[in-house]
Amino acid sequence: MSSYSATGIVLSRTLLGDNDRIITVYTKEYGKVSAVAKGARKAGSRLSGATELFTSARLLMAKGRSLDVVSQCEITESFQVLRHDLELMARATYLCELLDHTTVAHDHTACDRLYDLLMGALYLLQRAKSYPDGVVHAFELHLLAELGYAPVLEECIRCGERIEEGSASISVLQGGLLCREHRHVVRDAELLTGEALLLLLQLRDQEADTILHLSPNPRITAEIARMLRRYISVRIDRPLKSIAFLDEIRHTGA
Ligand SMILES: [Zn+2]
Repeated sequence: MSSYSATGIVLSRTLLGDNDRIITVYTKEYGKVSAVAKGARKAGSRLSGATELFTSARLLMAKGRSLDVVSQCEITESFQVLRHDLELMARATYLCELLDHTTVAHDHTACDRLYDLLMGALYLLQRAKSYPDGVVHAFELHLLAELGYAPVLEECIRCGERIEEGSASISVLQGGLLCREHRHVVRDAELLTGEALLLLLQLRDQEADTILHLSPNPRITAEIARMLRRYISVRIDRPLKSIAFLDEIRHTGA
């Protein structure tokens, strides 16, 4: 049985027998892999911390016939700040589940960039104060771009007319903006306010640190949250479990 090492972030985990876990990890080197962490649920196991959600760890894995087995681990970042704040934890959990659902196992395409994208978002979330959803939406937009689903936010997807400042329309199904003329010919065209469009462009284009200082109007943040929810939901095969938790947290402002 051969071994390999990888640096990865735990995206999800399930129980196996009385003492073990199966973890799904997004690794910088190999993309998404699943592995058995034997004894991870035993008290005092050195694997228990490394199998917590959104922990980043250096892992040594042994190739198995069906599933690989974690043989050694060393936590590189446990994101304690996120674990002690429900509002941030809900968002971190969502980011992990979203990456899990939009990638397939052992796909190396852009795996180093996707790993860095998630790590960067988790680090940024730890510092988010006024607008943690800004980190979430920036992650969503960058992830969509990596997957080839980036919404077109500069021009009409039908005729290429440049969309200048002000309200526009967007088609979630067709993936971008529509000019005044073409919004009438696309069935699911919906209004996108100029402020929402501007915020989307800021979240997509600005430096990570700048996003932390944004403090947009709640009406606008709700508008882009709804739009991106629909945009993503039509591009994944099943609903994300973490959404209910995230919505509850957003609603109560915990
Ligand atoms: Zn047009």
